[in-house]
Formats: sequence, structure tokens, C-alpha cells
Amino acid sequence: MNEIGTAAAPIIRARGLKKSFGALEVLKGIDFDVLPSQVSVVIGPSGSGKSTLLRCCNGLEAADAGSLEICGRMLVDRGQRLPENELNALRAHVGMVFQSFNLFPHLTVLDNIAIAPRKLRGLSATEADASARRLLDKVGLASKAAAYPSTLSGGQKQRVAIARALAMEPQVMLFDEPTSALDPELVGEVLLVMKNLAREGMTMMIVTHEMAFARDVADVVSVMDHGVVLESGPPMQIFDAPRHARTREFLQAVVTRGGPRRHEPKSKPVPLAFDDH
Ligand code: ADP
Ligand code: MG
Repeated sequence: MNEIGTAAAPIIRARGLKKSFGALEVLKGIDFDVLPSQVSVVIGPSGSGKSTLLRCCNGLEAADAGSLEICGRMLVDRGQRLPENELNALRAHVGMVFQSFNLFPHLTVLDNIAIAPRKLRGLSATEADASARRLLDKVGLASKAAAYPSTLSGGQKQRVAIARALAMEPQVMLFDEPTSALDPELVGEVLLVMKNLAREGMTMMIVTHEMAFARDVADVVSVMDHGVVLESGPPMQIFDAPRHARTREFLQAVVTRGGPRRHEPKSKPVPLAFDDH
């Protein structure tokens, strides 16, 4: 709340957002807010519409109805979408990290990060490289600037992908299951980078199945099921006292697959330094 007592304007505000693929209604009227510096985690069964919601938020999918305001601009207004040129400008403010890292294989790590700021933000090569090196340091990969993506582990690739998204200086970062494609021993290093971003106050919307991470880092956890948000609340409320039977069933299924137990410690120990350099 600011000094006159009004809440800060949301970075993302969806109202009645709907999206269908043919006859399949995937988003059935989503109301969703992400406030500045908030870490908003979205969980829910496969096929519930989580990726579609994220993809609507950076204009990769066009919603059919409702409204979607991102960084103060109406991305979708009563079903009408922004024209393509304005959409591109808006996308620059919304960083996105996918399950598959989508790095350019023919570019070094440094160039993967520096190319968009050069081409889209008009930075000189010197400025873009200096900024890319700072970001590589932030994700613990300072020593990999000259490496090619094929020589990196999955965890390292994903950290480069995060640095690349940050290079556009986004106002919000969207993550779609950023650790799902990783070997289990590489998950922690990516979550640590995300946790540090959260500590720095980055606004983040994260789809993940990492429940211990969600409990530790999320300000708000939202549960999606069949195209609706079943419930939202602080992690303790969602994990320890879920209101909906469907939430309980989903959490039970995740636990059975080897997720966190109910009384797992709030913070798992995380390495304090990366061992890549
Ligand atoms: P989640 O990320 O929660 O697993 P998605 O948003 O990916 O869910 O998908 C929700 C539903 O929409 C699924 O049934 C999926 O098959 C369908 N879907 C997603 N994208 C498309 C598409 N481009 N064309 C047709 N159906 C799609
Ligand atoms: Mg998905």
C-alpha cells in the first residue's frame, strides 16, 4: 500500500479472460492479479490451462474474451488485442523462460544474451556485452561467456535463458515449468537463481511443480483446474489448508510422485555459491 492507502497497480491484471482452441475452452474466465515485486506461483494438473494463461500474458496467444492489462497497457480489451507493433513493444517488458531453453546454438553464451538488447534496445555492442557479463555473473556463469550452448548442462542452459530474458530489463518475468526438463540434481541451481531474483524484488509469475520452492518463495499460490482458478492464497493456506477437494487431490498426487511432505522444512538448504567457476 502507498501513502494514500491505495494498493499498487497490478503488473498483470486479468479479468474474465477466456481462450478456446476450437471447441475446447481452455481458459473459462480467469481473474488474476500479479502485484509489483510479487512472486505468484501457479500450480495445477496437466492440461488445466497454466501455459495458455502465461502465453496470453506475453501475447503469444490471443485471448478470445475478457481483459488483460500488462504493465499498464491493455493487451486484451474485451476480447480485442493490441495491434502487432504495440504488442512487440509490450513483449519487451515481459520476460519469458520456457521448459525448453531455446538458446541459439550457433551463438556463444554471451551473444545469446547480448543479441536482443543490441537489436531491440539499441545498445552498442560494448554496452550489450558489458550488461551480458553482469547478468552471467548474476546467474553464476561468468566463466561461460565464450562457451557454446551445446557444451553446457541443462541447468546451465536454463540459467543462460534466464539471463537472456533479464537482458531486456523486463518489468515481469514469466516462467513456464523452468525446471521440468532438468535432471533432478540440476533443478536446485535454477531455483536458486529464481529465488535470488525474487529477493531482488523482481515481479514473477511461475508455473511449477516444485512445491517446496513454491512454499518457500511464493507470495501467492494459485491453483488452476479445468480452465479456472480454483483458489489463491498464501502458500501455507494452499498447502496446509486447501479449501477445494480438487486442490487436495492434486497436492496428494504430487506428494505421491515424490514431492514435498506436509511438514517439510520451509527452506531447503541451497548452495551459497555456484561451482561452475
Ligand atoms: P497446462 O500448461 O496446464 O498443462 P495448457 O495451457 O498447455 O495446460 O493446455 C490446456 C489445454 O489446451 C490442453 O488440453 C491442451 O491440449 C490444449 N491446448 C494448448 N495449446 C493448444 C493449441 N495450440 N491448440 C490446441 N489445443 C491446445
Ligand atoms: Mg504447461
